[in-house]
Amino acid sequence: MIDVKLVVDLNRCQGYAQCVFLAPDVFTLHGEEALLYDAGPADGERDHVSQAAAACPVHAITTDIPTHHDGE
Ligand code: SF4
Repeated sequence: MIDVKLVVDLNRCQGYAQCVFLAPDVFTLHGEEALLYDAGPADGERDHVSQAAAACPVHAITTDIPTHHDGE
């Protein structure tokens, strides 16, 4: 199993909560703009995290998930 590594640039994050919507087990919004996230989510969250990273309007989410998928 390969762990997912995840970094959110909180200076860039505007609290749009797209990531919270797409990966609620990884991202949590507290209040208006305080985003909490799991920096090492389970492998099963890979697709959710990938979708969340793609959906973030300000591209604040960086992951080490490769852009190619091997039959997933
Ligand atoms: S989608 Fe992007 S801007 Fe919105 S809360 Fe998540 S990291 Fe922040």
